[in-house]
Amino acid sequence: MAKTSAPAPPDRSEDDRLYAALTLRHILDAVLVTNLANDIVWVNTGFERMFGHRLENIRGLPARGLLDGPETSPEARDRVLRAIEGRETLTVDILHYTATGEGIWIDKTLTPIFDEHGNHTHHMSINRDISKRRAMEEKTREVMANEEQRQHERKLLSQVSEWLYSAKSLEELLMVVRKSMHTLIPESEGQLYIYSNSRDTLDLETAWGDHQPHQHIDAEDCWALRRGRAYSYGTRAIEFPCSHVEGEDTPYFCLPIIAHGETIGLLHVAFSAFDRSLMSREMIETFLRQRWDLGLLCAEQISLAVANVQLRQELMDQSVRDPLTSLWNRRWFLDAAHKEIARAERQGTALSLVSLDVDHFKKFNDHHGHDAGDIVLREVGALMREVFTPPLAPCRLGGEEFVALLPGLDHDAALEIAERFRHALSELDLAYGDGKLPRITASAGVTSFPQCGGHVTDMLKHADLALYRAKDQGRNRVVSALEPEGRIAAQ
Ligand code: GH3
Ligand code: MG
Ligand code: MG
Repeated sequence: MAKTSAPAPPDRSEDDRLYAALTLRHILDAVLVTNLANDIVWVNTGFERMFGHRLENIRGLPARGLLDGPETSPEARDRVLRAIEGRETLTVDILHYTATGEGIWIDKTLTPIFDEHGNHTHHMSINRDISKRRAMEEKTREVMANEEQRQHERKLLSQVSEWLYSAKSLEELLMVVRKSMHTLIPESEGQLYIYSNSRDTLDLETAWGDHQPHQHIDAEDCWALRRGRAYSYGTRAIEFPCSHVEGEDTPYFCLPIIAHGETIGLLHVAFSAFDRSLMSREMIETFLRQRWDLGLLCAEQISLAVANVQLRQELMDQSVRDPLTSLWNRRWFLDAAHKEIARAERQGTALSLVSLDVDHFKKFNDHHGHDAGDIVLREVGALMREVFTPPLAPCRLGGEEFVALLPGLDHDAALEIAERFRHALSELDLAYGDGKLPRITASAGVTSFPQCGGHVTDMLKHADLALYRAKDQGRNRVVSALEPEGRIAAQ
């Protein structure tokens, strides 16, 4: 290392002395001179101002440790000591402390001093306050780290929205929400609620994080749903928690889920790991502000995805539902029957089928008009849904012809439920305008797998043959396809 080996000029002019003293008194840098034992011999006024130590109080004291504090890097301190021992020049950034314990970042230059004979006599350090620069650097680093975090979140979010968009059903979508919310906002726990069909309450659909959520919440209990906009709790001086939230110390967001312009649910994102009593207001605010933006984006993506799934579901429904009765249509029936036959064959389970036809419907139409006929068909559909509940599947094949696919039911059980339906239909009162329509009846043929052959067309043919026999035998009855004469179900 370079040593200041050039000897000082033998005599200095008065001017030199005057200006040197003046400079040392007025420069902002702190100058410290120590002897060979590293004890303090002199400091300038800049030093006194910067560190709050008066020369008369510290003269003769060891310089070592005087300016160090709890967060002074041991590595920087060692470098200073080694430079002193090795009589080397050193420039280093080091955190020093004032007499009152305030930390100051210092750019320190250490120089050994030699007299005119080249003898090492002193050490001098020039200390410049670089706290402002360090703060700026720190801030820049923070901004960059934040930006990196935002970029990371944006990338994750775009991946998540791709998954959300690929969801074919609500179940798939909920699975994506559960897994991705945990990844996107790892500090949070939360739930997605969707309005029940009655729209009185919202039902829990999925949840993430460690929390025992409510199964249902009342829209009236949520500020976001009541006020129709996203609500953030946890930073304002005056604020009130929603009634569906327990305790007052957990910051949270309530974010409405909106599909096709209508609020259909609520995304609740809470931060219970953050005990507000342990954090400064500023810390909570910064933390929540960042998560808020992300939360809003998540709610928006989930809203779009739910709308997308609903639309997809509607389109699919339209292609497999009969619009008049809302029962499954022929297309759905053929597909489902095919699958159910394969399943019954594979698992050896029971499977039956009922073919139904409204009696004398042409006459009914002719007497009461097509509209009244449509009311009858709708009522038949409603009653079928009531009697043949899932997994039993009522379908309308066309006109006044219906079929019910009965997975799990053997022949006797199928005859029994078909008879229950026939009886209920025969007693159904049909309102039309202000008046009443005459009661109607239906005939049914029942068949079961595997006795009727292994294909859906065989099953349908068998059931229809039994149905024709029911018509022949006087209508308003249920006939078994599995008996030579066609057993009539007990009425
Ligand atoms: P059967 O007891 O032998 O079954 O006699 P039917 O009159 O019910 O049988 P047919 O097959 O001769 O008549 C079916 C009638 O159903 C013909 C048509 O007027 C009526 N129809 C078919 N589709 C609809 C519909 O969508 N709406 C209404 N209102 N009537 C329909
Ligand atoms: Mg008919
Ligand atoms: Mg018919």
